[in-house]
Amino acid sequence: AKDEGKGNYQFYSQEMTQKAMKRISMQSKLRNAIKNEVFDVYFQPQINAQTKEIIGLEALVRWIDENGNMIYPDEFIPFAEETGMIVELDRIVMKKALAQVMQWRNENIFTGSLSLNLAMKQLQKDDFELSISNLISSSKCPPEKIELEITESGLMQKPEESIAKLNRLKELGIKISIDDFGTGYSSLSYIKKLPISKIKIDKSFVVELPDNKDDISIVKAIIALASSLGLKTLAEGVETAQQLEFMLENGCHNIQGYYFAKPMSIEDTTRFLKNFHK
Ligand code: C2E
Ligand code: CA
Ligand code: CA
Ligand code: CA
Repeated sequence: AKDEGKGNYQFYSQEMTQKAMKRISMQSKLRNAIKNEVFDVYFQPQINAQTKEIIGLEALVRWIDENGNMIYPDEFIPFAEETGMIVELDRIVMKKALAQVMQWRNENIFTGSLSLNLAMKQLQKDDFELSISNLISSSKCPPEKIELEITESGLMQKPEESIAKLNRLKELGIKISIDDFGTGYSSLSYIKKLPISKIKIDKSFVVELPDNKDDISIVKAIIALASSLGLKTLAEGVETAQQLEFMLENGCHNIQGYYFAKPMSIEDTTRFLKNFHK
């Protein structure tokens, strides 16, 4: 029994060493990627459910590794958040996304808004508003065309401070939306204090529509809440015509999901913007 215990210990410690090694290697790879800015920005259209117009594009980061493979955000965003590297990473994404959207604006291909994901680490930084407003003003993009997507968990840390910061951005014309709504633990009383203009219904509530009775109730309740507070709604993860129909029937304003388009490269987005007809 003694030997067995020792064996177990060695097994665990070996496993832990491997995990630690993996983290260290990830950390240096990500740091290099940030230094060399080897990230692509993909764009996913946001569509007005009624008019079928393209109202916005959400920027979603993709990491191209040294072998040319694409790495998805779920594999590195949480790690980048933990280590604080997300601040630099998001600056790169914002800069690239803004430059691209300005090009489309100048070519008259797209005049809608740009949605940017904001890590909660950013919101907590003292120079947060300044660095965002500097980025936007140097891009020459009208602030009214910028929407920052913030998750509930990001807002709930030091809510009073976050509210003050977001209010200052709102004064510049920038719009704020709550991402992944319903998945966090936010107290509803904060919703009315936040300077937000839109609620994004998390795709986990959409995937089983229109069959799942609980999801039907939840989505209807979110839309009712938003509408009574004068907020716009956007449903994420809409993949089928029935889901689009459900959103239309229940008064959800905007749609984002594979039904219209997956996140696309710059080239594919350009083609989509030129060819999309209502
Ligand atoms: P998110 O902000 O909730 O973005 C929506 C995610 O849902 C995207 O995953 C998108 O590809 C996916 N999606 C969109 N429509 C559909 C659909 O119809 N069906 C399904 N199954 N999925 C759909 P993605 O691009 O892998 O990004 C994952 C998450 O990583 C994002 O979730 C966001 O939280 C984070 N993220 C992505 N890019 C950035 C970034 O530049 N900065 C920061 N801070 N976070 C980012
Ligand atoms: Ca988002
Ligand atoms: Ca989301
Ligand atoms: Ca999400």
